[in-house]
Amino acid sequence: MINVITEISTENQIFYSVLLFSWTVYLWEAYLAHRQRKTYRDTTLVPEELGKIMDSETFEKSRLYQLDKSTFGFWSGLYSETEGTLILLLGGIPFLWNVSGHVIGRFGLGPEYETLGFFFKDALKKFAVTQCILLPVTSLLLYIIKIGGDYFFIYAWLFTLIVSLVLVTIYADYIAPLFDKFTPLPDGELRESIEEMAKSISFPLTKVYVVEGSKRSSHSNAYFYGFFKNKRIVLFDTLLEDHSPLNKGTADENVEIQTAAGDGSETESIETKVRPKNKKQGCSNQEVLAVLGHELGHWKLGHTVKNIIISQVNSFFCFFLFAVLMDRKELFSAFGFYDTQPTLIGLMIIFQFIFSPYNEVLSFSLTVLSRRFEFQADAFAKDLGKATDLYSALIKLNKDNLGFPVADWLYSMWHYSHPPLLERLRALKDKKKD
Ligand SMILES: [Zn+2]
Repeated sequence: MINVITEISTENQIFYSVLLFSWTVYLWEAYLAHRQRKTYRDTTLVPEELGKIMDSETFEKSRLYQLDKSTFGFWSGLYSETEGTLILLLGGIPFLWNVSGHVIGRFGLGPEYETLGFFFKDALKKFAVTQCILLPVTSLLLYIIKIGGDYFFIYAWLFTLIVSLVLVTIYADYIAPLFDKFTPLPDGELRESIEEMAKSISFPLTKVYVVEGSKRSSHSNAYFYGFFKNKRIVLFDTLLEDHSPLNKGTADENVEIQTAAGDGSETESIETKVRPKNKKQGCSNQEVLAVLGHELGHWKLGHTVKNIIISQVNSFFCFFLFAVLMDRKELFSAFGFYDTQPTLIGLMIIFQFIFSPYNEVLSFSLTVLSRRFEFQADAFAKDLGKATDLYSALIKLNKDNLGFPVADWLYSMWHYSHPPLLERLRALKDKKKD
């Protein structure tokens, strides 16, 4: 009898600890978001450093956009936390498990999608691709856990390592092109200087692509990929002044007007040539090189390798802990699984709920580390003599992405994997002096 009581209380302890922790994190993040909204509300003047470059109209637009986004985030966050809590309290996980018997894939509606049609097409494709990868991988993983014996966690970790290596290998060549169009960067000044820079830091560059990233207002501007001696650089067209769709759009308009007037007199066609309404988007060649200098800095300074090592050590550690915990029946019964202990549910309970404090600490440490890496990569670009160009590029890109340059320190410390713009600019300026 006593035994039963202690068992129940252990279950309850587990269950309510998980719930309490989830709400603690939620309230903490809601508090941070509240601080950040206050920053959006109170900062109505363009910061001094940006006074010359950022007009108050752009600043105001970005401020209001971020404020709206944050208010929306508050309500959607409250909704999903409540929903999650209700699911847990009402024993929804066993219910869903019984109903579906399958993995329930969820994909979120991100603000990065501007048009609905594009969103649905893209979301469907994403869903299909994710399922094609996720289902066989999950099934195989479950199988390995089942037959792996005492040391299954080693095989499970090795398996995920191999899967991620395979995915990295095929992602850029086979998966990414399903979503975006990649074209080789044409010969010219920019490509020559990129090749030259790559050579100067012995980056084994084989190809340079431009990707049509314009459909999504992505925060990514350039990246590289590839193993060992076969590396490629990808530039988003929104980064490039000469490729940016906004600039192209206005150029096309001009052409149309010119051809329409082309039947008439030559002078008329020149006169009707309108000035582009939009300010030019994208960076000059020198600024693109500075951005690339930063990206290649991540490679040269070993940030990429360090990140891979950290994530593999973490996944090995998690599988090991999973192996230790997986036979504990009370973990399952805490979430309403009394008679069965499905492995998939075990993975979910342990990785998502039991590890959540560890996950929070880990993700905070990684955010801190990432910011350090960003400063180091900026410093690397500066050593290549690109401080001035990076300075102006960062401002332009921030503007194009409707980024708001001011952040509450606590909010940014918790959330920002990249240091706030002003901090980066200040660091670059300090370095410009020496
Ligand atoms: Zn970076």
